[in-house]
Amino acid sequence: MSDMKTDAKKTTSFIQDSITALRMKIRGDIIQPSDLQYEMARKVYNAMIDKHPALIIRPVDVADIRSAVNFGYEQGLDVAVRGGSHNGAGFGTVDGGMVIDLSRMRGVRVDPEEKTVRVEGGAVWGDVDHATYPFGLAVPCGFLSTTGVGGLTLGGGSGYLTRRYGLTIDNLLSADMVLADGRFVTASREQNEDLFWAVRGGGGNFGIVTSFLFRGNPVSTVYGGPMFWPMEAAADILPYWQDLILNAPDELYGWFGFATVPPVAPFPEKYQLQKMCAIVWCYTGPLEKAEQVFKPIRSFRQPAIDFTGPIPFPALQSMFDALFPAGYQWYWQGDFVKHYDDKAINLLIEHSKELPTMFSNIHIYPINGAAGRIGPRDTAWGYRDANFSQVIVAVDPDPANNERIIRWAKDSWSALHPYSAGGAYLNFKMDEGQETVKAGYRENYTRLAQIKAKYDPNNFFHINQNILPKA
Ligand SMILES: Cc1cc2nc3c(=O)[nH]c(=O)nc-3n(C[C@H](O)[C@H](O)[C@H](O)COP(=O)(O)OP(=O)(O)OC[C@H]3O[C@@H](n4cnc5c(N)ncnc54)[C@H](O)[C@@H]3O)c2cc1C
Repeated sequence: MSDMKTDAKKTTSFIQDSITALRMKIRGDIIQPSDLQYEMARKVYNAMIDKHPALIIRPVDVADIRSAVNFGYEQGLDVAVRGGSHNGAGFGTVDGGMVIDLSRMRGVRVDPEEKTVRVEGGAVWGDVDHATYPFGLAVPCGFLSTTGVGGLTLGGGSGYLTRRYGLTIDNLLSADMVLADGRFVTASREQNEDLFWAVRGGGGNFGIVTSFLFRGNPVSTVYGGPMFWPMEAAADILPYWQDLILNAPDELYGWFGFATVPPVAPFPEKYQLQKMCAIVWCYTGPLEKAEQVFKPIRSFRQPAIDFTGPIPFPALQSMFDALFPAGYQWYWQGDFVKHYDDKAINLLIEHSKELPTMFSNIHIYPINGAAGRIGPRDTAWGYRDANFSQVIVAVDPDPANNERIIRWAKDSWSALHPYSAGGAYLNFKMDEGQETVKAGYRENYTRLAQIKAKYDPNNFFHINQNILPKA
């Protein structure tokens, strides 16, 4: 670690004169290792990632981003781009290079007439929900409100509204971007169509998105929240849920999870710290029909804990924020899955009984419904035929447990990987190299590499699930 600090300082002194010139061009923050705020500014969400950039820039507008990109290019720096900083692999930072941290660019503007939502590149989903809810609109997003719009959208984005309105990228209308050569362009169906195709799943490989334009969908109060059952019921509940989700109308969504019940109210004391299975629902159909829709679910096996009911969408989307604050150790492994047979279900249960810490979990997110009806070549997201995105998550506040939690995640993933459709949602992977990236894109990788060669031939944007340029 101290070597990294020294490297960062050396690099800083080497480029010091240029930084002085850069200060004339940037209205946002320029943070160096000698600055008081550096220690806080260098941190990302996953505390397992501990890197020391030479320079952190926090732009406030597109002009700042262009100056930062030009500076990084001229100086030959490794450049990491940071949106919400939630990336598990820690692609929002870099040792000895420059971070362009977009966290001062979080503006959201709703157009209630057009039903569109313009979101700046450093916003988090809570910013979007807060702005859209008063207009009765929502953009499909993830399961926490603290995750960044940037990284989640560019990777694809699955969440409570996936079955009803598609992935986040399926609701993207255009993206304003700064490219590696400093040019400002718009990617949409009408302009730079190839770039628009690539950013819908291809990650941060093609440039910095300064703002996203999304379609807003009519969502207000939904019928949602978690139901928990004892672990012994999982062998019945999981196949029941799988059949239900594979055949349900789009407005019914529920992700399946194995978790430990937190030792806090409102969870009943007798279940606190027990490992249980759960489904977290989000029904977006007519509220007056909801009780009827959930009647057979509740009577199939009465939940031990039932918090499902009418809830404003932003409240559902932020329900688990407090359980996962920034600064914990994270290691995770994903897979796309078409179907779980009895053997796979037994393996899921077996490994969930061994969840190594209270914060660790296994989640299975449905990606069928509206998301599954888009063609596999229509966007860079190549797994439209998979029904589930599975993630095995090892989390703990204490780094002393890292070896143990990582071993559990790797063992569980290896046991279940034979049931994979081939690759994984790359936003649920660590930094594992080309084979993993290629598996994540399937046949779409070749076209992505060609588009990368057109827009970023020198691979300037390479701190990401990297697509290598190949014309
Ligand atoms: C607690 C937690 C919950 C999650 N839940 C979900 C979920 O429900 N659904 C889901 O789909 N995913 C989920 N994820 C995964 C999430 O999508 C990824 O971690 C994603 O990378 C986070 O994006 P970010 O902007 O916060 O991350 P960052 O670390 O800031 O960035 C991640 C990557 O995106 C790039 N990037 C970010 N913003 C921009 C931009 N404006 N322009 C260009 N490149 C950019 C970065 O360069 C980097 O490569 C979750 C992650 C966590 C930690």
